[in-house]
Amino acid sequence: MLPFDFHSPVEPLDFPLFKEKGIKVAIKRDDMIHPFISGNKWRKLKYVLQTAASLGKEHLVSFGGAWSNHLLAMACAGAKFGFRTTAFVRGEAISNPNLSLCSLFGMQLRFVSRAAYKDKTLLFDQHYRRDEQAYFVDEGGCSLEGARGCMEIFDELTQSYDHIFCACGTGTTLAGLSMAKAAHGGPTQLHGVPVLAGGTFIKDAVASLSGTACADAIILHTDYHFGGYAKTDPALNTFVKTFAAQTGILIEPVYTGKLCYAVFDLAARDYFQPGQSILLIHTGGLTGLLGMHEQFGLPQNANVL
Ligand SMILES: *Cc1c(COP(=O)(O)O)cnc(C)c1O
Repeated sequence: MLPFDFHSPVEPLDFPLFKEKGIKVAIKRDDMIHPFISGNKWRKLKYVLQTAASLGKEHLVSFGGAWSNHLLAMACAGAKFGFRTTAFVRGEAISNPNLSLCSLFGMQLRFVSRAAYKDKTLLFDQHYRRDEQAYFVDEGGCSLEGARGCMEIFDELTQSYDHIFCACGTGTTLAGLSMAKAAHGGPTQLHGVPVLAGGTFIKDAVASLSGTACADAIILHTDYHFGGYAKTDPALNTFVKTFAAQTGILIEPVYTGKLCYAVFDLAARDYFQPGQSILLIHTGGLTGLLGMHEQFGLPQNANVL
C-alpha cells in the first residue's frame, strides 16, 4: 500500500436555480486530494504505482500533451513515492508552467513529433526495452487499474444519489464509477460529460474497461464539448468565473467547467425531478488555469483608477 490515502469531502452547491427546481446538488472535492497529484489522476495512478512497485520497477515512463494533468500528477507522485519519471511530450519542444512543474518534480521530458507520438508502445520499446527498471504507464493513466482506483470515488460515498456526473476524457473515471455502481447495486444513474467532440466513443471505452452491461447503463451528454478538447467560448468562461466567485471552488474550462455547465443547463431544462439528489465529481486538474491568463487575467469588472 502507498502511504497516502485521502477521502475527499462532499460539499453542497446552493444555487438559487437548484432551490427553484427542488433538487439537491453536491460536489465531491477530489481536487482537494493533492494540489498536483490531483483528482482522478491520483485515483488512476494509485494501483498503477502499486503494481510497478511490486514488480520492482523504479522508473515510470508515460505520455501526454504539454498541458497534461496526468504527467504533472505522475511527476509529483514519482517524486513522493520514489520513482524516476520520464515523459514523452507530444509536439515540438516548448516551455509552459505545467512542464516547468513536471521538471521541478524531477521528470525527464522528451519531446516527440506528433507522428512518432501515435505509437506509444513503439516509442517505449525503442528507448526503454533494455531498461529493466522502466514501467509503461499509458497516456492519461488509462487502464483497468486506473478504473479500479476510480471505483473508490463511489466506495467512499456515505449516502446514495439519484444521479452522479463526471467529465470524460478517456472514460476511465466513468468506467470505474460504473464498476463500483454495479458492485454496490442501487438506483443511482451515472452520467458522463465528454469534453471532446464526438463523445459517443466514451461508451466503447467504458465497455472495453468494465463490460457492455456497465456501458449500457451510463448516459452520455455529448453536446457540452464547446467545439472540442480544450476549446472554450465566452459563455463557458463567464460560467467558470461566476461559479468560482459564488462558491470559492475553482473549476476550469477544459473538464470541470464543461461538467458543471452541463448540470446547470440540464437543471434549467427540467431534466431532473423535484426531490432528486445529484452529485458532481470534481476531478481536479486546476493547474491548467495557469495557461489561461488571456481568458481570465483581465476581468470585465476590473477597476482601473
Ligand atoms: C484527465 C481528466 C479527466 C478525464 O478523465 P478520464 O478518466 O480520462 O475520462 C477529467 N477531469 C480532469 C480534471 C482531468 O484532469
